[in-house]
Amino acid sequence: MSKERSKVYARKAWYIEGVRMADECIFCRIVAGEIPADIAYQDEDFLAFRDIMPKAPTHVLIIPRIHITSVAELTDGQQKLAGRLIVIARNLAKKEGIARKGYRLVINCGPEGGQVVPHLHLHLLGGRQMDARLG
Ligand code: AMP
Repeated sequence: MSKERSKVYARKAWYIEGVRMADECIFCRIVAGEIPADIAYQDEDFLAFRDIMPKAPTHVLIIPRIHITSVAELTDGQQKLAGRLIVIARNLAKKEGIARKGYRLVINCGPEGGQVVPHLHLHLLGGRQMDARLG
């Protein structure tokens, strides 16, 4: 992707009921280009960047550019968007060289689900043996 185009994407900021999400949400600030991130992939609707506190040698977060708080907030009409998150993760796993050995995809939802950042994101984790126990 050309530098010019990625700049255009970075300038996009989302509003919900008049509230500029980049003022409220750290991942929206990344989408708006207001705080730096190590970008692994981007297109018009999605962004993937490296986790600031990686839990595995490869730890990438894939997010929609629009502000969706969590899986709980997804509408039935956003099934395609939800599917794209997984397809992007699969493609990134190949690009990152972790596809052959395997990887883990995680979406935390809500406080008891361990979600800390209230902007829907899919964790792509790989490059080490994952514990078979989830928890
Ligand atoms: P979760 O617990 O599922 O909400 O995960 C949020 C993830 O976002 C954590 O793994 C954090 O390390 C990561 N994170 C928080 N702030 C940033 C940031 N500015 N850039 C990259 N990753 C971040």
